[in-house]
Amino acid sequence: MIKFFKDKKSILAMMSERKDGSMKLLEDDLNVENRSNFFVKNGIDKENVFMAGMIHDSKVAIVDKNSPNLIEGVDALVSKEKIFLAVTVADCVPVYFYDEKNKIIGVAHAGWKGITKGIIKNTLDKIIQLGGDFGNIEVVLGPGIQKCHFEIKEDIVDKFKKYPQFVIFKKDKIFVDLFGIIKRQLLDYKIKNRNISVSKECTFEDAKRYFSYRRDKPERVEVMMAMIGLK
Ligand SMILES: [Zn+2]
Repeated sequence: MIKFFKDKKSILAMMSERKDGSMKLLEDDLNVENRSNFFVKNGIDKENVFMAGMIHDSKVAIVDKNSPNLIEGVDALVSKEKIFLAVTVADCVPVYFYDEKNKIIGVAHAGWKGITKGIIKNTLDKIIQLGGDFGNIEVVLGPGIQKCHFEIKEDIVDKFKKYPQFVIFKKDKIFVDLFGIIKRQLLDYKIKNRNISVSKECTFEDAKRYFSYRRDKPERVEVMMAMIGLK
């Protein structure tokens, strides 16, 4: 398990690793045990965990204690309450948000589709809507597929036309720096550079530590859980 925002006593933010087992959600009973173990290890009551359904789109939900534990149709969650928000990832970038002054948390599942459709901006908009201040918002980009391995084909190059500096043409291949694009979007939203922390870890590269959808192409999707909660 990797922890983020370690200096902040008021929240717990972390991501499971391969050794914690797959955290696949929805109607997948096989992995319930992995999730339970992960929650127990972190002293979290599962009733207090709210998960995004995740459809690689850009909708964000504001969550409170009365929300359903699984929130369908969204790829990011934000809250002001003492609850845990979760998404799962396996190459997509887990993005953690915290406004310490206003005690607002958020987490986004950011794959290329969500990133190009505006999941980052939409999450920030909801944090502001809850009373957040962009000057206070701190953001951590956890491990995901980095530009060394995120290869795309010609057919979707157009989707990145707003970000030419993050599209890398190498011989006959095309790679995209998703982390670079997310950071650019955060800076465009006036999040302070010093408040943005970016993981260098590549899920594709480190097979011991991470699941990677692109690398493993598993029959049954294996994923890590990214969570943030106010204590
Ligand atoms: Zn890589």
